[in-house]
Amino acid sequence: MSRVLPGDAGLVHDLIGIGFGPSNVAMAIAIREHNARAGGRQALDARFFEQQPRFGWHRGMLIDDATMQVSFLKDLVTLRNPASEYSFLCYLQSKGRLIDFINHKNLFPLRVEFHDYFEWAAAKVDDTVSYGHEVVGVAPVVRDGVVDHLEVTVRSGEGLGVHRARNLVIGTGLRPLVPEGVERGDRVWHNSELLARVDALEGTSPSRFVVVGAGQSAAENVAYLHRRFPGAEVCAVFSRYGYSPADDSAFANRIFDPAAVDDYFTAPGTVKRRLMDYHGNTNYSVVDIDLIDDLYRQMYREKVLGTERLRFLNVSRLTGVKETPDRVRATVTSLVDGEETLLDADVLVLATGYGPADPLGLLGEVADRCLRDAEGRVRVERDYRVVTDPDLRCGIYLQGGTEHTHGITSSLLSNTAVRVGEILDSLLDRGLESASDEARTVADGTGTGAR
Ligand SMILES: Cc1cc2nc3c(=O)[nH]c(=O)nc-3n(C[C@H](O)[C@H](O)[C@H](O)COP(=O)(O)OP(=O)(O)OC[C@H]3O[C@@H](n4cnc5c(N)ncnc54)[C@H](O)[C@@H]3O)c2cc1C
Repeated sequence: MSRVLPGDAGLVHDLIGIGFGPSNVAMAIAIREHNARAGGRQALDARFFEQQPRFGWHRGMLIDDATMQVSFLKDLVTLRNPASEYSFLCYLQSKGRLIDFINHKNLFPLRVEFHDYFEWAAAKVDDTVSYGHEVVGVAPVVRDGVVDHLEVTVRSGEGLGVHRARNLVIGTGLRPLVPEGVERGDRVWHNSELLARVDALEGTSPSRFVVVGAGQSAAENVAYLHRRFPGAEVCAVFSRYGYSPADDSAFANRIFDPAAVDDYFTAPGTVKRRLMDYHGNTNYSVVDIDLIDDLYRQMYREKVLGTERLRFLNVSRLTGVKETPDRVRATVTSLVDGEETLLDADVLVLATGYGPADPLGLLGEVADRCLRDAEGRVRVERDYRVVTDPDLRCGIYLQGGTEHTHGITSSLLSNTAVRVGEILDSLLDRGLESASDEARTVADGTGTGAR
């Protein structure tokens, strides 16, 4: 049974954000900066809901020596507002590390450090977010034949609450993918769980790990497990011949530019597909060249010393998994000659990627009012607003899940600062500033206190 949370009764927010990862933290900051500039009636009232109990960005993969795949200048704000007080440089200054970072001469901070930056930035706008609150449904509220606003049902430790908004911004991120027919278990992990689970192995002297996949996360898992468990063999399984390096050369990197979003959005479908084929290797199934070199050097050193602990089963596929309480048995089949290798291991790590969740999965009957293209994909306008039937007067904006319309930056950090600026402009351009207080309050409401 739903109940309306105290203080929220009657209020129709200008915007509700679902998820509070980097995308929606950046959104909250853009709104905060806009409100500080605009003040009064042009201010936007936004509320965000995050299911995690506190801010967390891929915590399971915060391997201590892993670095960002994106320049620190592509932080939450700089490309939109280089003078922002929410930048990575301001964070460094607040931590007393600005000069040390500069001396480091490196554009790519540790992932742990960027996580700390995200946390710092999120804390500055934490009056707009409710942690430990999972959005579980959305329903339309119809008035005079049109959908005037949306009811968002949120589950927390206190039960279900209903909140209302005229616009949604969905920033719920990606979901871990596992191969078909394989179930996760005590000894079968997705790499997203690595750090949450690995400590439990301490003191158990594991003898073998199997890591499936050939992307950045897979290579990081191989290197990490090899380093952390000096008595264990680590077997890497993948269908490629070897790890392929990420193309981070300057011209190719322009595929992440804000202007590339315009080009991609405008291009016909065939050109879109070609661009993804050409430049997918800037991001997908590729590994930093330094890490590739480290792993190769390590493998060769062990060969020389006769202490081989790194094994690469290339041109191979995982074809079977059997978990028992003590072990997991992975069957690996060579794609060259079909030969099967049985690997009994302590843990099998599936570093088999992430995929988009259906961005409209939470929307219930509202999703029926969202239009799809001939291939069943959500239609999205340039301003990241879902194309809907005209009777839906609310904006549904997507941060993520727009790779088919906006290109490769859809789920990445590269364009986040610019994207949230564009969404903010869209909210304002589409007339929020002219909405009367009355229109922002449902009939039985108590006012617009949060504005
Ligand atoms: C290990 C790893 C490293 C990466 N490194 C980089 C990098 O260096 N550079 C780069 O550009 N990209 C990188 N990425 C890509 C990654 O997608 C982005 O970094 C970033 O996480 C996107 O932010 P987001 O806010 O859109 O999604 P997320 O960070 O996934 O955040 C989504 C949030 O929504 C919450 N949520 C989901 N459903 C609900 C719900 N129903 N109710 C409430 N809350 C909900 C989740 O709990 C989560 O906190 C990396 C990804 C991984 C997995």
